Amino acid sequence: MTSTAVVNYGPAKGSVELREVGKPSVGDEEVLVEVSRVGVCGSDLHQWNADHSWPVRYPVILGHEFCGRITERGARVSGWELGDRVVSETAAVLDLASPMTRVGKYNLDPARKGFGYGVDGAMTRFVLVPARCLHRVPESLNDEQACLTEPSCVAFQAVVENMRIKPGDRTIVLGPGTIGILCGAMARLCGAEVALVGLEADRERLSIGSRYGCEPIAGDAGVWARQRDGLGADCVVDATGASASLQSALAWVRPGGQITKVGWGPQPLGFSLDPLVQKNISLQGSFSHTWAVWERVLALLATGNLDLIPIIGGVWPLSGWKEAFETMHRGEIVKSILKPV
Ligand SMILES: [Zn+2]
Repeated sequence: MTSTAVVNYGPAKGSVELREVGKPSVGDEEVLVEVSRVGVCGSDLHQWNADHSWPVRYPVILGHEFCGRITERGARVSGWELGDRVVSETAAVLDLASPMTRVGKYNLDPARKGFGYGVDGAMTRFVLVPARCLHRVPESLNDEQACLTEPSCVAFQAVVENMRIKPGDRTIVLGPGTIGILCGAMARLCGAEVALVGLEADRERLSIGSRYGCEPIAGDAGVWARQRDGLGADCVVDATGASASLQSALAWVRPGGQITKVGWGPQPLGFSLDPLVQKNISLQGSFSHTWAVWERVLALLATGNLDLIPIIGGVWPLSGWKEAFETMHRGEIVKSILKPV
């Protein structure tokens, strides 16, 4: 039995196509998940455009933001039943003995490999998932919301775990993609005042940020940053896919402020980091997420206090993957979702 899959088959730009793939066989500690919905991530677009910063095992099935139901279960899997509605963390491969894994920071284990680049992902009918990656989907979430748990966890890790954000903090979020908008939404939930900053061409996506209580700004956010006392923003979250945006972050943050960088791009920096020193800024990277964040984010989503529906720009069948990728890449919508079955 074969299924159609969106496969990234090589390192050259544009090396993505539909292929027929076999049904994977389930290991003792794995389950087979029949995928209901899978979100297109900026990182899927990066791999398609060959402007990513991480090693990829070609050929690989794309997709790591997914939900579905368990259809097969390995011999040593307990606590999960066939038919359970699940979402999955992204750390498909881990070194369970590594010091980072053993202290619970397995997102930072150097041996970690994720779905969609290190192992086959979910842009197909069936995906193999280690049982330790699974989380239960609350009844109140539909599949479109559930498949976006992963980017919500990225935003929670960046804003809540990796920043010390306080009610009333003036917070600038750079980049109105999914992660930027969700970081803005998280900062609002923490009681911050938030500006979501993009380019003139980002007007449409910026307006979606307004639905989460973020002030949309196309271009220079310097005036907004200095509005309270002339000194700049307390917090800046950089969720763009380019290194150069750090220069704006350094300009707009106040002395003693914090910058969290969650977006990445392989370009080297072409400017001085002296403001980082002069302003005594805390610069923090944020990568992935862990079990506790997933459980908390699912609980948050179940309350209805973070609604993911506004960021969804459309749902395509797998055969429409290219339009889904292109529409999102052009910035016409925030998030594309694929529906494999
Ligand atoms: Zn992602």
